[in-house]
Formats: sequence, structure tokens, C-alpha cells
Amino acid sequence: MLEDLSFCEATLWERRTVDDTGTWLLPALQHAIAVKAQEADIPVTYVNPKYTTQQCHVCGELGRLENDTLECTTENCSVGTVCRDRSAAVNIAQRVDLGEIIEVIGHHD
Ligand SMILES: [Zn+2]
Repeated sequence: MLEDLSFCEATLWERRTVDDTGTWLLPALQHAIAVKAQEADIPVTYVNPKYTTQQCHVCGELGRLENDTLECTTENCSVGTVCRDRSAAVNIAQRVDLGEIIEVIGHHD
């Protein structure tokens, strides 16, 4: 499963290349993964990427982003501060479970 970033504004990526060298490589990397998965007959699932890096994976509220960490500001939430990518990965997995799927490629049903 991957985030579907194909509709993201180009300016967003340009802005991110300045301070986040990993981010701009993502679409190309995703494409490579998708091609490999299709070769291996593994379905690739795309989910809605909205707020995956900003949303707390426990309470679902939008937290405060600072560098590579996400700080959840919700009272009584156990998360506190979490690695942004880790939180995003959990969010993406949860969205698949919740059925927030945009597209499935290579799935034979
Ligand atoms: Zn939280």
C-alpha cells in the first residue's frame, strides 16, 4: 500500500526539496515499487494521503509538525511526540482497514 500522491501540487514538492531531500524522491520510488509489485503479481493499494503526516495515529486529531516529529496536542492522548513517518505509516495502514482506498492496481478478483 502506498499513498496516492499523484495529484499533489508541484509547488508542494518543490518547497519540500529544500529541507526534506527524501520527499521529492517519493513519487519515483512509488512508481518503481508499483512496477515491481505488478511484475510479481502483488496488488498495490493507494489510500487518501490527506493529513497522514499531520494526524495523530491514536486520537486522529491534527497535531503540530516540527521537523521530523509530530506532537499531539490533544489532552489525555498517550502519544505526546512521535516520529512523523512512523505516525504516517500507521495512519496509512489504518486507512486501508477503514476502506479509504483510492485505487487498487494489479488485484485480480
Ligand atoms: Zn493524539
